[in-house]
Amino acid sequence: MTLRHLPSVETLLGSATDLIDAYGRPLTLDALRAALDSARVAIREGKPTPDSSQLLSAARADLEHRTAPTLRPVINATGVILHTNLGRSLLSDEAAAALVSVSQHYSTLEYDLAKGERGSRSAHAERLLAQATGAEAALVVNNAASALLLALSALAKGKEVIVSRGQLVEIGGGFRVPDVMKQSGAKLVEVGTTNRTHPRDLADAITPKTAALLRAHHSNFKIVGFTTEPTLDEMAAIAREHNLPVIDDLGSGALLDTAAFGLAHEPMAQESVKAGAALVIFSGDKLLGGPQAGIIVGQKALVEKLKKHPLARALRADKLTLAPLAATLLHYLKDEATRKVPVWRMIAVPLNEIETRARRWAESWGGSVIDGQSTVGGGSLPGETLPTKLAALAVPSPNRFLARLRSASTPIIARVEGDLVVFDPRTVSEKEEEEMVKSVGLALFHPLIPNPSP
Ligand SMILES: *Cc1c(COP(=O)(O)O)cnc(C)c1O
Repeated sequence: MTLRHLPSVETLLGSATDLIDAYGRPLTLDALRAALDSARVAIREGKPTPDSSQLLSAARADLEHRTAPTLRPVINATGVILHTNLGRSLLSDEAAAALVSVSQHYSTLEYDLAKGERGSRSAHAERLLAQATGAEAALVVNNAASALLLALSALAKGKEVIVSRGQLVEIGGGFRVPDVMKQSGAKLVEVGTTNRTHPRDLADAITPKTAALLRAHHSNFKIVGFTTEPTLDEMAAIAREHNLPVIDDLGSGALLDTAAFGLAHEPMAQESVKAGAALVIFSGDKLLGGPQAGIIVGQKALVEKLKKHPLARALRADKLTLAPLAATLLHYLKDEATRKVPVWRMIAVPLNEIETRARRWAESWGGSVIDGQSTVGGGSLPGETLPTKLAALAVPSPNRFLARLRSASTPIIARVEGDLVVFDPRTVSEKEEEEMVKSVGLALFHPLIPNPSP
């Protein structure tokens, strides 16, 4: 057998009509050439010459692989509710429906139906945000990092912003508060020490160049022991004396009290507004449980100033954000967030419900149920956990087993605790349960059949 027994690419293309239908001619041609190239290499190594149907299947497998989505759903069995790597918060059914609906229809994004003329995109989520937080006004941008950039650019460019040393945080993904401040053109004035900052440290640093006081939530770490920080009330009092705004970067920014669910109290947006922060910044996809967004609420005059800044246009939120955000906010206004918003449902689910599901899984796999801890994640509530029940499996090679689960048609992300592979029902929806139980069973009882992975 030699190279000249290989069919030509034109011949292969002639019998690849189904591939051309599915993937288009350019991609198909590319895949057929690649299949022929590999065949030539194999033949030179002494392997048999593949026939046309083998070459076509190789091209098909290649095309499937090349066009498989890389951003796709997974089952999160880690028990980390706001898992940044796995997409943070999940949308409620209503928010998801709102997203699909505006994505496939024209909408009132900037159209006033009553007047039949141009309207404002502020009419949607921003009105609801003001209502939900008690603020005078609101603005939605791409994410909380851009919200901070916009606020500092509009209010403090070329001026000074005073912040406590203990709050110069890095929140993951290399995002550092001081770096964002630098980008805005504001000059950072650090006061106090890592563990202790007193109100007078802030007051003493105020000069004619000061544009704002900034508070940044610690998010993902805790300073314990001999520590103190000015409260927001104290900061607001100092700021008022000097006619300066306080910008409060809450990070997660809850609208409900986490303390009602056995957790520490996470700062709430309403509290910051009430305490007198001029601008309060938080994420849409952390404890709010909506789409990725940066939310700014606060004094009308300042919010208007931000809206007029050129960066506001560059950072503005689109309809695919505003529609699900508005739907999510409605759950809070209707006092149904703990029933409807997945993040809060997962926080609030009773332990006995988790245990029932963990038992069901463990029984079906021949595993056991052990006590464990779920975490909220998303840069909120550092060190805080929720007691949970885990379905646990003893397998010969936990890490290989985890890899096998990741190759399931809907990948499953589990974790290892001690030498057990554990699954936390808290972050697995009822809808995902059947598929997950089946996939894990398959991995356990047919360990040698490789799962086809795209
Ligand atoms: C998470 C976080 C941010 C960034 O939020 P994104 O919406 O991801 O941009 C900013 N500040 C703090 C304190 C945070 O915790």
